[in-house]
Amino acid sequence: MPPGTLLFLLGGAGCCVDRGVTDLSECTVEGLGRELEARGLKASHAARLLRLYYAGKPGPDPGDPPLPGVLVDWLRAQASGLAGPGAARRVSADGTVKLLLGLADGRRVESVLMPDFHPDRAAGCLSSQVGCAMGCDFCATARMGLERNLTAGEIVRQFLALRREARAAGRTLRTVVFMGMGEPMLNLDQVLAAIQRIADNGLGGLGWGQVTVSTVGIVPGIDALARSGLGVNLAVSLHAPDDQTRARLIPVGKRFGAAEVVDAAGRYQEHTGRPVSIQYCLLRGVNDSLDQAGQLVQLLSGRRMHVNLLSYNPTGAGLSGTAYEASSDVAAAAFMERLKTDGLVAHLRIPRGRDIEAACGQLAGRGAPASGPI
Ligand code: SF4
Repeated sequence: MPPGTLLFLLGGAGCCVDRGVTDLSECTVEGLGRELEARGLKASHAARLLRLYYAGKPGPDPGDPPLPGVLVDWLRAQASGLAGPGAARRVSADGTVKLLLGLADGRRVESVLMPDFHPDRAAGCLSSQVGCAMGCDFCATARMGLERNLTAGEIVRQFLALRREARAAGRTLRTVVFMGMGEPMLNLDQVLAAIQRIADNGLGGLGWGQVTVSTVGIVPGIDALARSGLGVNLAVSLHAPDDQTRARLIPVGKRFGAAEVVDAAGRYQEHTGRPVSIQYCLLRGVNDSLDQAGQLVQLLSGRRMHVNLLSYNPTGAGLSGTAYEASSDVAAAAFMERLKTDGLVAHLRIPRGRDIEAACGQLAGRGAPASGPI
């Protein structure tokens, strides 16, 4: 069989997406095994082939049992990442790296690598959709609208691209959060499939506890994530303790009220044993009063949830035309003190990558073409 034949044979059915080229990032071990068997090859090669792919190796290590030549050719033919048309890479003064990754259909998606304060670690931020339909008023992604869901393989390739970035910087990618473009709960099947591959010891090897899925409060999605049994971490973007302010900032707040969302987060916490983190972006004169801090305390009372207070990252006027401003340092500190005084665990998060539009709420698929491969 000449090199490349298998690409053609596998590129039409089974576990892998058919775009003319079979893509290992879209394959499960079981699905790939079935495909190999159907082509007269051993199914047991699937796990090894995928392990090599996730490790970024072009073939078996010297001294390891050989793989059929056609599979080695196949491995080498995999795209190195998502460096399609329009791919770009920007580096912040604080060391954060934003990758603008090109997809096969010409669309672009962003992923972010954030260096940890620990000198050899990094955290990654993954996107689940191109654009977003949620319309959050302080978020640049909202202004793109939803273009489409990402496939599990496109999410996996973001992870692999970030891991390569981390390695090049002498760091290990230790955690990933689904806080990039999109609402993960509205593309949950693909997000779960990607997490299974990213976390699995035999593939991405990150571990389940190193993955966090973030939502603006899609209650059925929170319950579905709990039912999935993956045991990953959950972050909920609350941004206001009262439904009126919340709905102004997050339109889906009209459908799922703050109390209902917190109840779902509580169920998740009980089911998984993992403390849920509550994200709260402080906006001057909108949600940063001490009265609202008190309401937040009441809402979270009796629950073991952590509150992450985020600083607003400038994104220009929102869809409503409102131009938001970050809370003052004094107001942010007073808000946090009020939470802590009443027994909540709260942290003020330092924004990363603001100067390259890589911080929370700033991803919008903009950027100059890459000068080299990603
Ligand atoms: S904050 Fe998240 S859910 Fe809201 S519009 Fe932006 S990407 Fe979508």
